[in-house]
Amino acid sequence: MLIVKKFGGTSVANKERIYNVAKRCIEDYQKGNDVVVVLSAMGKYTDELITMAQDINENPPKREMDMLFTIGEQMSVALMAMAMNKLGVPAISLNAFQVAMHSTSVYGNARIKRIDCERIRNELEQRKIVLVTGFQGINKYGDYTTLGRGGSDTTAVALAAALHADACEIYTDVDGVYTADPRRVKNARKLDTVTYDEMLELATLGAGVLHNRSVELAKKYGVQLVVRSSLNTNEGTIVKEGAKMEKMIVSGVAADADAARVAVIGLKDEPGVAFKLFNALAKHNINIDMILQSVGRKGTKDISFTCSDLDADEAEQIISDTLPFESIDVNKNVSKVSIVGAGMQSNAGVAAKMFEALYDANINIRMISTSEIRVTVLIDDINTDRAMNAIHDKFDLGDN
Ligand code: ASP
Ligand code: MG
Repeated sequence: MLIVKKFGGTSVANKERIYNVAKRCIEDYQKGNDVVVVLSAMGKYTDELITMAQDINENPPKREMDMLFTIGEQMSVALMAMAMNKLGVPAISLNAFQVAMHSTSVYGNARIKRIDCERIRNELEQRKIVLVTGFQGINKYGDYTTLGRGGSDTTAVALAAALHADACEIYTDVDGVYTADPRRVKNARKLDTVTYDEMLELATLGAGVLHNRSVELAKKYGVQLVVRSSLNTNEGTIVKEGAKMEKMIVSGVAADADAARVAVIGLKDEPGVAFKLFNALAKHNINIDMILQSVGRKGTKDISFTCSDLDADEAEQIISDTLPFESIDVNKNVSKVSIVGAGMQSNAGVAAKMFEALYDANINIRMISTSEIRVTVLIDDINTDRAMNAIHDKFDLGDN
């Protein structure tokens, strides 16, 4: 079997953990498997590099940031190779150049285009464990790129797809994917399986366990993933296509505090208003999420939308410079709470049940949006934890 294993920063944060990971990989190796290991930078090292850079230049060139970032992952793989060596197992570390991990050109947010597998295959044939730097690529200018924060998951999935691996295991510091953040929802439970689409929604909603592009890639190439802890041997969560083993309509509840609502009151009720407004925001790279337009009255209408907290003030300014309106209101003290579940497609009343849970808890809904497998409400920040618990209980997602 060819196994790709990925370990995050906390899993390689110190000497003891490095040896722990080394031993886990060696176990698989000694059973006769080919083992490819993708590592992140140790602990919070990537954050430390950012701090260091900003101390020198608060607006560093993106190319140089990527040059700097790649040190972190390179340190991890080299140290891991040394640990394995010490344990008597041949291992070799490779960075994005040595593998040849081709990416698009965008520094800081590159996408993997193609991976040359020859070097890795050669090393595996010589019965070595191959350690590959996560998060990095090389572009057509012969420079390092990085894949965006948390991008090592994507490296692992891309490698698993390119090498046609038999398994892709993502090791982290939690036991898997939960029905809700266990720190916020007391009955939260680990899921045995979750579909790609559900995981994609959960990753995008900030569940924090997987880089969302890694899930996109896994879905595209049919790479089955296991998310599990590097600190124990509990079974993790399997991320895969299709039929759910569990008869659950809703798989999880997620919250995202990084949401602001912008309400533009008294816009002209005529063609092109929504276009002009959202086009201006798009030109400034402001991502919009939920959108609500009121019915027209007396020649005017209102449009509300949500964006990131960080973009809200800029959005207000851009709109003021673009269109006439009566007033604008920005509220940053709101959060998005979502339920996600593949079973929603074939079950009626799921949204109503969520709204009932909020009604029972006396929580007011400010906006609503839905997709095929998700319902999202916008509520006041102070209600978020209560809302999550109420919804989680209503759908009986917990252990008891
Ligand atoms: N070290 C990088 C980060 O902190 C990549 C990763 O951990 O996946 O974002
Ligand atoms: Mg991560």
